[in-house]
Amino acid sequence: MSNITSEPIPFHRPAYGEREIAAAADVLRSGWLTTGPRVLAFEEAFAERVGVRHALALNSGTAALHLALEGWGISAGDEVVIPAYTFTACGEVCAYVGARVALADVGEDYLLGPDQLGQVVTDATRAIMPVHFGGQAVAVEALKAIAPRARFLEDAAHALPADVDGIPTGRLGDAAAFSFYATKTMTTGGEGGMLVTDDDALAERAARMRLHGIDADAWNRYGAGGSWAYSVEAAGFKYNLTDVAAAIGLVQLDRLDELAEARASIAARYDAAIGGSGLADPPPRRKGDRHAWHLYVAALRLDALTLDRAEVIRRMASAGIGTSVHFIPLNLHPYYQRTFGYRPGDFPVAERLFQRAISLPIWPGMTDSQVDRVAETLLAICDGARRPVEV
Ligand SMILES: *Cc1c(COP(=O)(O)O)cnc(C)c1O
Repeated sequence: MSNITSEPIPFHRPAYGEREIAAAADVLRSGWLTTGPRVLAFEEAFAERVGVRHALALNSGTAALHLALEGWGISAGDEVVIPAYTFTACGEVCAYVGARVALADVGEDYLLGPDQLGQVVTDATRAIMPVHFGGQAVAVEALKAIAPRARFLEDAAHALPADVDGIPTGRLGDAAAFSFYATKTMTTGGEGGMLVTDDDALAERAARMRLHGIDADAWNRYGAGGSWAYSVEAAGFKYNLTDVAAAIGLVQLDRLDELAEARASIAARYDAAIGGSGLADPPPRRKGDRHAWHLYVAALRLDALTLDRAEVIRRMASAGIGTSVHFIPLNLHPYYQRTFGYRPGDFPVAERLFQRAISLPIWPGMTDSQVDRVAETLLAICDGARRPVEV
């Protein structure tokens, strides 16, 4: 191998350039750093892109999940259904409001489906959090029939832009949380999130709760023509986004389709290399629906191999290739075991998917030869560890 092809390939590299840097620098020079005109412009552009009445910019996707549950008045005695195959943010926000985390298994597509939901829904179920894992949107409509009285809160942290039958994420449920964390499909410079909804009452409550429970935001209070007076209506939170972050977000939002196309073409290249190899399976996806390709999770054919996923990751790392695992099912973590009584073995599909899963680098800017090198290295590692076939 030449020096050039042996250069390390990181698991992730953020896709921002001079436009984002210039937008942030403009805000720094303007003298107004925190929530202000850029946040307002970012919210308006985001609401228009998704096609919703309200978009509230926040400092994380987790804050968006929390404010939705809080705004719906979900509290002690209530249950919130979340898939076991997700990040802990989904569960911790239920705990914030005192609700019980009701974990559900997932289907072979990593997603919460009607069968899995039907097994855990009870009279106490107030909300359901479908997670658009990896960028494949959950068909929320099919879940509504199972729990017609519950609210649906989309965890859309992975899924921008994505859709089901042409309906974009953010409009599939009653509210949705997007994340602009550094590795997500667009970023506001490291941390950020957005709560979107058509629910006027929720939007009003969340707008207040994101800034100390105060009835007007800082811009109105301190800006030209603003008033010094404010009134505290509740014990709120400190969840507002800065104008510096929003300025970066506006540029990334403008580039969203360009970034999404880059991700989709990397996914297609991995598909072609890995599909049919007999050593690993490409991620499942529904034809016709838009996939955001936040993650490319290959599933190792462990029954054909003499090594496990941890060893594959170690060998990828020694070949200079960063990989990751999404996700360790929540029932395998001490907190969920201690607090809600979950145990290993509770969610067989999620746990089997987890054993096989390896997330490959997928970031705009990866070259074809980098993508090929990742796939070839993975397949070479697996090919060298084929389990002998008994005759
Ligand atoms: C990233 C992520 C979140 C949380 O987003 P933050 O902006 O980091 O708070 C929530 N759910 C899932 C599935 C995520 O991957």
